Amino acid sequence: MTRTAVYPGSFDPITNGHVDIIRRSLQVFDRVIVAVSFNPHKDSSWFSSDERVEMIRETFRAEGERVSADAFSGLLVDYAAAKGATAIVRGLRAVADFEYEFQMTSMNRHLRPQVETVFMVAAESHFYISSRLVKEVASLGGNVAGLLPDQVLPRLLARARDRRP
Ligand code: ADP
Repeated sequence: MTRTAVYPGSFDPITNGHVDIIRRSLQVFDRVIVAVSFNPHKDSSWFSSDERVEMIRETFRAEGERVSADAFSGLLVDYAAAKGATAIVRGLRAVADFEYEFQMTSMNRHLRPQVETVFMVAAESHFYISSRLVKEVASLGGNVAGLLPDQVLPRLLARARDRRP
């Protein structure tokens, strides 16, 4: 039996915090589907869902079929079930993440009890990384090297330049 997990998020863009969580998940699951959520009606993201998917694919090219990336909108538990996944992976950084995650997990369990949510904790050196903060620092001209996969850094810097007034 292949154990498949879905790792959902906005991944705008993927950071080394996300990469850490995906690598840890690969120790527990056979396959991880990184699911880029997008809301066509309300989107303030820097990258389109296609660009976000592409950056994840580039980052995990060497893992072959064990890591795939896909965009989805709609109910996460339905998406997970359609993909044959038995688990949802989420990353926890600090207590601040807990309340929201706890609520979402309970709702997802109510909707589809067969799908279990599993939490992973990244290495300490990745605790403070979030896509939102990385974008904010990059747009103010701060150094974000080492916080993102090598292939993603130039794309983020270019996008930060394009967005400058
Ligand atoms: P972000 O908060 O960086 O915009 P996403 O919405 O894409 O992230 O998050 C997807 C999942 O990855 C969430 O469960 C989030 O808590 C987790 N995550 C993001 N960054 C980290 C990190 N540095 N360490 C642990 N988990 C993380």
